[in-house]
Amino acid sequence: MVHVNLQKAEFVRSAAKTADFPRDSLPQVAFAGRSNVGKSSVINRLLGRKNFARVGAAPGKTTHINYFRIDGAFYLVDLPGYGYAKVSRAEKERWGKLMEAWFADSSLMTLGLQIVDARHKPTADDCTMAAFFKGSGRPFAVVANKLDKLRRSDIAPNLAQIRNTLELEESVPLIPFSAEKGDGRQELLNLILEHVGEQL
Ligand code: GDP
Repeated sequence: MVHVNLQKAEFVRSAAKTADFPRDSLPQVAFAGRSNVGKSSVINRLLGRKNFARVGAAPGKTTHINYFRIDGAFYLVDLPGYGYAKVSRAEKERWGKLMEAWFADSSLMTLGLQIVDARHKPTADDCTMAAFFKGSGRPFAVVANKLDKLRRSDIAPNLAQIRNTLELEESVPLIPFSAEKGDGRQELLNLILEHVGEQL
């Protein structure tokens, strides 16, 4: 297993169009999720940093993909959040165009990660996002965040509902996670390093 110092994380750039996507040979690990699902919190927990990805940053800012370089080993690609109710139709279309552009280049993606809310049935927007990942043919996993808000007895049925609703094949990992408490961090980290290591 490769050793990566996750604390060594630096912001590289914000990309709003194809020409801005980095295309060097570094592996790219992409994070997607509905606004407010805790994507920034998951990234911060993973990196062991408090305020790296800005938590609660401008909901509905759908126009940029943020690239971070982690210890010179891989890019963490923060895809724009989706599904924020107050976003205009034009903004939603921009999100769709940007995702289409990014996934048109999805050979760049080493691993795709979709964050969903462990408490709820995935939304139609979540299903759209999952379809982008599945259509890419690249490795993909789902992270069910906010696990700490679930009763123990609800965990298994909720995970089953997430798997069914997103129509995940058995081979797609579904990782129960709590950005708040840290559950699932090691499993997610192992998955990332496994894929990044293959490409290094
Ligand atoms: P983002 O919009 O997806 O980047 O979401 P944020 O990271 O800004 O988180 C949205 C809200 O959910 C914030 O109030 C977080 O504190 C909260 N949150 C995120 N992850 C968790 C979690 O695992 N458990 C709990 N209880 N709250 C969380």
